Amino acid sequence: MTKYYAEPFKIKMVEPIKVLSREEREEKIQKANYNVFALDSDDVYIDLLTDSGTGAMSDQQWGGVMMGDEAYSGSRSFKRLMESAKDIFGYEYFQPVHQGRAAEKVVMPMYLEKGKVAISNMHFDTTRAHVELAGARAIDCVIKEAQDTVNYHPFKGNMDNERLVTLIEKYGPEKVGLIIITVTNNSAGGQPVSMENIRETSKIAAKYNIPVCIDAARYAENAYFIKQREEGYADKSIKEIAREMFSYGEIFTMSAKKDAIINMGGLIGIKKDTALYETVKARTIPLEGFISYGGLAGRDLEAMAIGLQEGTNFDYLQYRIGQIEYLAAKLDKAGIAYQSPAGGHALFIDAKKMLPHIPYYQFPAQTLALELYKEAGIRSCDIGSYMMGNNPDTGQQIESEFEFTRLAVPRRVYTQSHLDVIVEALIAIKERADQLNGYEITWEPPILRHFTAKLKPL
Ligand SMILES: *Cc1c(COP(=O)(O)O)cnc(C)c1O
Repeated sequence: MTKYYAEPFKIKMVEPIKVLSREEREEKIQKANYNVFALDSDDVYIDLLTDSGTGAMSDQQWGGVMMGDEAYSGSRSFKRLMESAKDIFGYEYFQPVHQGRAAEKVVMPMYLEKGKVAISNMHFDTTRAHVELAGARAIDCVIKEAQDTVNYHPFKGNMDNERLVTLIEKYGPEKVGLIIITVTNNSAGGQPVSMENIRETSKIAAKYNIPVCIDAARYAENAYFIKQREEGYADKSIKEIAREMFSYGEIFTMSAKKDAIINMGGLIGIKKDTALYETVKARTIPLEGFISYGGLAGRDLEAMAIGLQEGTNFDYLQYRIGQIEYLAAKLDKAGIAYQSPAGGHALFIDAKKMLPHIPYYQFPAQTLALELYKEAGIRSCDIGSYMMGNNPDTGQQIESEFEFTRLAVPRRVYTQSHLDVIVEALIAIKERADQLNGYEITWEPPILRHFTAKLKPL
């Protein structure tokens, strides 16, 4: 088992959380119509809904907030962000924006239009949405090992480069507007992409003259996995690995709410093409604001400049990924199945294995998420049939290949004791799993139903 590394920080400020009684939780979740998104966060003990924007900033970052330069143009904080980003990514130009999807809103229409396609190892939901809003179509091209939750593969987030070539030949290179490499591969469970794979993808892209965009939300976690698992990288620093990764793209879009450990923010990076940068600037001004703030306050830029550096700290990453590995090792011992190996930011519990008697149309992963709340006030979410929704043509419930209950771990927020509570709750649920019943939907909107649907227990 992997050694667990204790928090490389001590606690200077705390945010109290409260534990409701089981009866209170039963009442709250019923009032929320058995939808975790409808719960008040005050009624949640351990919140594992997402790792996005939920991290804890450091004293350095909070200090930086006070030092933020709020000038409309030429802000000192903007300059600090440019220096910090250049140091990590090795690119020439950067444009701050208010979050990851804002970067996508600026960048995707520069490459994509009706009749074109974008090919990615896997598009994140908002990336797919912006590809489609630009009029194009999004094609996922992850290796088939990503579908296998049991067998080990060090880089389950990889692009299937053989299939990539087939797809380019099929659509014609002029139709492929963009190749997007998502690191880590969020939708495949925070699974990393190897340097060899990124290099190969970029070679294929160059051969067909197709630009490469890196979706960089969890680039530091990806670099950590490369350092741990890929030959030739053990002695390289996280920043050296990051610089090599980014050298294979011409542009990147990034949600800074993940590895830059800030609560709101995003970034676009342009390797060196000045004309490209001019286009990014011209598009950002009407959409996000003037180039030296891009939808953020000066203090946010300052916090991002510092958070980018902290996110690449090896001790921090070792602790961060170590938390997920700690959870995974405890679940191994308890015989609880999850998407293996554990990814960077979350653990995906295999609810199909824990609740085999609950059919997909009664939502086993949602059932487990609700049970975790009732058991210990833990908020997680369904990544399974409940989230997939209905087939738009037939109106029939889609049967998802997987029924995952996702436990996303915020950065620097919870301690090992919190992780133990999570494990104990899962074990308690497993012991009475055969007595659990599924749920049915009593009301649902036509799209993205999982956020607002109402359910009732069967
Ligand atoms: C979170 C995320 C985004 C979107 O970022 P927001 O800041 O939520 O708008 C895009 N791509 C990936 C891979 C992400 O994880």
